[in-house]
Amino acid sequence: MENELLELREKLGEISDLESSLALLSWDQQTYMPPKGAAARGRQQATISALAHQMLTSPEMGERLQRLHESRDELSDDDRALVDVAFYDYKRTACLPGDFIVELTLAQSSGYEAWVAARKNIDFPSFLPCLEKLIDLAKRKAEYHGYEGSPYNALLEDFERGMTAEQLDSIFGELSLRQSNLVGKITASSNQPDTTWLDRNWPEQSQLDFTLLLLRDMGFDFDAGRQDLAQHPFTTSFSLHDVRLTTRTSRNDLFSCLTGSIHEGGHGLYEQGFHESDARTPLAKCASLGIHESQARAWENIIGRSLPFWRHYAPLFLKHLDSDPAKISADQIFRAINHVRPSLVRVEADECTYNLHIILRYEIERALLEGKMAAGEIPEAWNARMKELLDIEVPDDASGCLQDIHWSVGLFGYFPTYALGNLYAAQMFEQIEKDLPNLWTEVEAGQFDGLLGWLRRNVHLHGRRKLAPRIIYDSTGSEPSSKAYLRYIEAKYGKLYNL
Ligand code: ZN
Repeated sequence: MENELLELREKLGEISDLESSLALLSWDQQTYMPPKGAAARGRQQATISALAHQMLTSPEMGERLQRLHESRDELSDDDRALVDVAFYDYKRTACLPGDFIVELTLAQSSGYEAWVAARKNIDFPSFLPCLEKLIDLAKRKAEYHGYEGSPYNALLEDFERGMTAEQLDSIFGELSLRQSNLVGKITASSNQPDTTWLDRNWPEQSQLDFTLLLLRDMGFDFDAGRQDLAQHPFTTSFSLHDVRLTTRTSRNDLFSCLTGSIHEGGHGLYEQGFHESDARTPLAKCASLGIHESQARAWENIIGRSLPFWRHYAPLFLKHLDSDPAKISADQIFRAINHVRPSLVRVEADECTYNLHIILRYEIERALLEGKMAAGEIPEAWNARMKELLDIEVPDDASGCLQDIHWSVGLFGYFPTYALGNLYAAQMFEQIEKDLPNLWTEVEAGQFDGLLGWLRRNVHLHGRRKLAPRIIYDSTGSEPSSKAYLRYIEAKYGKLYNL
């Protein structure tokens, strides 16, 4: 058995090397690659990804995992965790037939092309045939995987294993009602922040320089990572000691670079925080996308949009930007950075309206998967729900149901993880405030060691040893729910808007 384990670790290490190489190619594609490199890059990625797939699904791998799994009770805790996760990945991947994967890959690439054109020309009907094909493939995928209850569960599992659509219904049900009510009250409040002072050009290089200082304070290790510019910011990693953040600057938006960097920094700290001994194994990965997102949202929103944070950073930030700290107060920044405005576009949504955008998408994609809605009915359903949840009229499909890339590349079941990230973060923070009574004094001093230590111990170091609901339960003593999050936004925004 020792030999079997050694050989398993060796093979998984090789697969991990291929995956990291793919991540590097994709990082380069989105940061530095010249446009003419695209075609060759696509071929390189296809070759490496086929190799990794072959290795993971080879009969040899399957038989070895089967044997090890049968004797899992005799394994050490670490080995058992590794065998369980690797066997799960093997079964999950191997149950999809080769010709199905080819069909899906082709549909994804023509879906993406059709979506880009449809969005540009505001022409949903031209995208419809591709979308119908992708929904059909998603349904077939669910059948291959098998599921209990809704077929949506089979797809959700790819992103948030351990969570079900039935649980989401109960979590999102109360959330949409109370959050939508709160947004209504905020919009009607006469106590709106003054944001006129934001209306000027802010030096872009200085914005960028400041994020480096901040990321260092947060605990991001620049000897094991870096930050570059990208059009659509993201985080990726090639190993525990090479984590790449990206951000973007905007001359007339003071906060987008800053909040974007803090967000990606939260993702990056998670990637730098896996257990050293899990390197090159599938255990050194996130527990779920919701947990990954919770790390980003915790830093971006709960810390980065808090008053103690700004009491420390306002003078530093303003000095970097050549603005006079005597003229703009921490409180002014705090109010402006928490300005709530219902808007059409999810990626520009504020902390208070964001989840409502997600709930709308979740309801629609679940109805599509369960055959309760036809793809052609999406625009109408979308616009009606935007009116109900955010009281907004959608002028056209480009700023409505065509705004996100996800469905065009066959990603169904992904959206809920964004909202879960917000909920998990708030739930963790209620516990963090109990465990670290000096938290906010430390934040006000620009010190984050205590916070990062808590996140490392309770989240990062476990990698994939625990599923998301287990991480939440073990670290907070309760099941995932929207209660802590609702308490958090109702208290914070109640105060801000004098409700
Ligand atoms: Zn994120």
